[in-house]
Amino acid sequence: MQLLKDRIKKDGTVKAGNVLKVDSFLNHQIDVGLMNEIGKEFRRLFEDRNITKILTIEASGIAVACITAQYFKVPVVFAKKAQSINLDGDSYTTKIESFTHKKIYDVIVSKKYLSPNDHVLIIDDFLANGCALIGLIDLVKAAGATVEGVGIVIEKGFQKGGDEIRATGVNLHSLAVIESMNDVTGEIVFRDSE
Ligand code: 5GP
Repeated sequence: MQLLKDRIKKDGTVKAGNVLKVDSFLNHQIDVGLMNEIGKEFRRLFEDRNITKILTIEASGIAVACITAQYFKVPVVFAKKAQSINLDGDSYTTKIESFTHKKIYDVIVSKKYLSPNDHVLIIDDFLANGCALIGLIDLVKAAGATVEGVGIVIEKGFQKGGDEIRATGVNLHSLAVIESMNDVTGEIVFRDSE
């Protein structure tokens, strides 16, 4: 998505440790106009799927998931990061290691909000090593629901998540795929993508 790539080039900053900061439009301040275009693009990419629910993970995925959901007219469910899980049987749970915080979280979704009848579009802001996404896919499977697709705003294509998850047959689209980035020069190179 050219609009997004242009914005990343203009306002993204490359930090040490393979971290791209996009706080001015995605992860801290949010450019709602840009989110709206992203939502439309996800609708275009997944319009042939009968989506009943959008699933994301708190916190950064929520904004983009909500705007996207307006185009599908379905609810958003966000997986919650819990300090300790209450094993009362009312939730689906998985573990996710945070790329940015290097911490392992228990992540939960209430059984009330995902059911075997659901056809789920998973949305997230970044895809790096794939841990967050694999956790979200696990939660959908635990519910007996179907993963219809995955929409990612920014994929760091030089990390393993995207290739590994595509190889499992998941219908994954990323709006901008970064081929390489350099924290010394600040250069960001994109892979040709949608
Ligand atoms: P993964 O689990 O694929 O390694 O990382 C995905 C999660 O880590 C995303 O939900 C995102 O919040 C965070 N993340 C990974 N890489 C970056 C990055 O370069 N910049 C930012 N801002 N967040 C990232």
